[in-house]
Amino acid sequence: MAVSPPSAERAILHVDMDAFYAAVEQHDNPALRGRPVIVGGTGRRGVVATASYEARAFGVGSALPTAIARQRCPDGVYLAPRMARYAQVSAQIFEVFRSFTPQVEGLSLDEAFLDVSASRRLLGTPMAMAAALKEQIRHRTGLACTVGVAANKLLAKLASGLGKPDGIMQISPEEAVELLAGLPVDKLWMVGEKTATRLQTAGIHRIGDLQRAVPALLSRILGNRAEPLRRLAMGIDERPVVVNREEKSIGAEETFDRDIDSLDAALAMLMRLTERAVVRLRDSNHLAAVVQLKLRQPPFVTHTRQRQMRPPSAETGTLYACGRELLEQWWQAQNEPALRLLGVSFELTEGQPQDDLFSAQRKPSGVEDQIRARFGDRGLVRARGLAKDS
Ligand SMILES: [Mg+2]
Repeated sequence: MAVSPPSAERAILHVDMDAFYAAVEQHDNPALRGRPVIVGGTGRRGVVATASYEARAFGVGSALPTAIARQRCPDGVYLAPRMARYAQVSAQIFEVFRSFTPQVEGLSLDEAFLDVSASRRLLGTPMAMAAALKEQIRHRTGLACTVGVAANKLLAKLASGLGKPDGIMQISPEEAVELLAGLPVDKLWMVGEKTATRLQTAGIHRIGDLQRAVPALLSRILGNRAEPLRRLAMGIDERPVVVNREEKSIGAEETFDRDIDSLDAALAMLMRLTERAVVRLRDSNHLAAVVQLKLRQPPFVTHTRQRQMRPPSAETGTLYACGRELLEQWWQAQNEPALRLLGVSFELTEGQPQDDLFSAQRKPSGVEDQIRARFGDRGLVRARGLAKDS
């Protein structure tokens, strides 16, 4: 991977759709516009995946148990997610992204980093590109997004968070130090719960405290992570935008606001990610030859586990079963199992999709996708996914 030029010379956009699942529902069904819409698990143990801005006014947001959401917002419209439909809209959004630059790093269905450094000559300033991109996404999908503009990923993501909803926000390197200073330390991507606790114990609560901290003290708390973290606190972030290679593998992953520390919750998340990835796998007309899991222990130790599929498959249940075994084995081998990030990806069969092999598996799955797109996941979500998080 090429080393990026100095951060000040880069132009990075962080694009994040506003209340994505809920916005898609409101777009597809005009009767829902202006109403509090909550998409998520509708079962007894379900949690909210996305709440529309109307619902957020009632104190309903992602990860809130649906039962509590119903108390806070009894007149809300509660919907089960329609992942196939969101994946469809996502594909449109990413097409727009790639019309601005090939350097697109998707973070989820509705969020990506774009390195538009090399597009400046052709497409104008980063701010102009951000405006054009918003316009094109609205034109193409009818949906609103927020674009953060900065010289690196850290600041671009911070900017989009500050610009929400339906905004464009730029953070210059000069503003960065002051802006960061007021934020809690756990807003930095390297700082998980444990690190945050350690920092807070040492009296470091805000990023400003980190900026001013004595290096020796930081080294004592953080070891060799002290210097990278101090640089992040100063708004310096040289991580490159890493293009997801979609031709060879297809996957879905998620980083969690709160670490997952129960196997049940991890399996529910795996089911959700598998379903999301399988939709795209089928769109590609390929089968999965290898199932790979990406497992990140907080704060950032990342493991991968993989297994060959014999025969290759595009069937959700089969692929989930394989991922499940890998996850359970990994989980049992850890001292204190916890996940900051979970990803599942499929390495695709080489060459052209084999029609005969595929059509046999395609039939039931295709029907399932159609039902899903039309009626939603409600009738189809597997018990495991419904239990916790979809
Ligand atoms: Mg979003």
